[in-house]
Amino acid sequence: MMEFLNRLSNTFYSGKTKPLAWRKSQLLALKRMLMENENAIYEALKKDLNKCQFESYISEYQYVLKDIKLFIKNLKKWSSAQKVSTPVLAQPGSSKLVPEPYGTVLIMGAWNYPLQLVLSPMVAAIGAGNCVVLKPSELAQATSNLLANLIPKYLDNDAFAVYEGGVEETTALLKQRFDYIMYTGSENVGKIVMRAASEYLTPVTLELGGKSPCIVDDKVNIKVTADRIVWAKFLNAGQTCIAPDYILVTKAKRAELVEALKASITKHYGEKPFNSDDYGRIINHRHFGRIVSYIEAQKDTLVHGGETDEENKFIAPTLMLNPELESGVMQEEIFGPVLPIVEVDNMSDAIRFVKDREKPLALYFFSNNQKNIDAVSQQTSAGSMCINDAVIFMVNPELPFGGVGNSGMGSYHGKWGFDTFSHLKPIMHRSFLADAPIRYAPYTSFKQKL
Ligand code: NAD
Repeated sequence: MMEFLNRLSNTFYSGKTKPLAWRKSQLLALKRMLMENENAIYEALKKDLNKCQFESYISEYQYVLKDIKLFIKNLKKWSSAQKVSTPVLAQPGSSKLVPEPYGTVLIMGAWNYPLQLVLSPMVAAIGAGNCVVLKPSELAQATSNLLANLIPKYLDNDAFAVYEGGVEETTALLKQRFDYIMYTGSENVGKIVMRAASEYLTPVTLELGGKSPCIVDDKVNIKVTADRIVWAKFLNAGQTCIAPDYILVTKAKRAELVEALKASITKHYGEKPFNSDDYGRIINHRHFGRIVSYIEAQKDTLVHGGETDEENKFIAPTLMLNPELESGVMQEEIFGPVLPIVEVDNMSDAIRFVKDREKPLALYFFSNNQKNIDAVSQQTSAGSMCINDAVIFMVNPELPFGGVGNSGMGSYHGKWGFDTFSHLKPIMHRSFLADAPIRYAPYTSFKQKL
């Protein structure tokens, strides 16, 4: 076993992580770490993804601070035992459900929101009373280094460790035994994690990705629709797991939508998005090449954007109209600033299109028609659904966040995160009184009575 894992496991065994006062002290330490290093966090995110300060603030820094606040406020309530009823057969007696921490949890994050995707699950794991090994993504090197540097300075080193590295190091880490694993990233690595976890029957939460459809109905406020789609798609230069991957729209509405999307892109990122302070860059040259290949293969279908700059890993907000459905851009998760628009005949066609593919992480439907809203919600499956907006549902901690089918399993956010990192232990407490002899063998006399 890796030495630091021994340390964490001994700490958990000692019971140190169980008192609520200790959990709270660690959450407060994490809060202090964020607040005292706010600028260093923005710098790391800028270096990794050219993330502008506003996006870093709302989707990483402030996002985790809000989580901490929510957990501190609810810690006592969420961790309390819940009484449940006890049937006559087990009377006199009482029954309750007691959340207990699993032990040492491994949290592996992706590079696109490199701070939030490891710290938000970590808040939940601490709140539930676990020890944590954090494995940030090596692709967001600056943020990974920053976390590895800061966490040991602020948090209890007996209970927490940051483990950095790429495929080789992670492969070695996954050979170790954990009590729970939460993985955020691609489907392929998700399978590797699940296979490794099966060796010890370790439970997993897999937060994966996929192609999240965005269906636009005929009766919508076109300007608001376009602005919301453009914001959600080009945030972080399209590198968001719940970004609208492609649009489905009817032939009748298509021209109006394309014009509104173009106008919105220009309004928010300017005539030359390269010069916009608010527009991100692609994480590395490999992903840059992957996204550029989608554009090159479907060049004839471009209706906006398409400019790229390899040295700066820049890809302009790009719109495609009716790319071939067999092409890479319509077969793989795009995870970049390219938005294909696909025409359908009607909403039933759109529903069929979605149902013919893997279950997505998110599904967006812009519509004012309740009958169509009901049809889409009832006939399609997705990790989450948002009507008349995109991505924004993430701000509601009352909603569990997670995938279904190929987009993942398990969920977190708010209390759902607390529950994910807790085993809900049922405890029945019986009295020694009223011990009915009828339940004991030999059963003959009982059977004769039946
Ligand atoms: P990534 O390459 O950073 O990988 C994520 C983690 O897996 C890292 O910690 C990395 O070190 C590890 N890893 C990579 N290859 C490995 C291997 N061969 N063996 C063991 N470990 C390995 O991130 P990614 O996978 O490129 O992330 C992008 C994907 O993540 C997209 O599909 C996106 O939709 C998804 N995503 C999902 C969510 C969500 O919350 N559901 C959030 C963000 C991203």
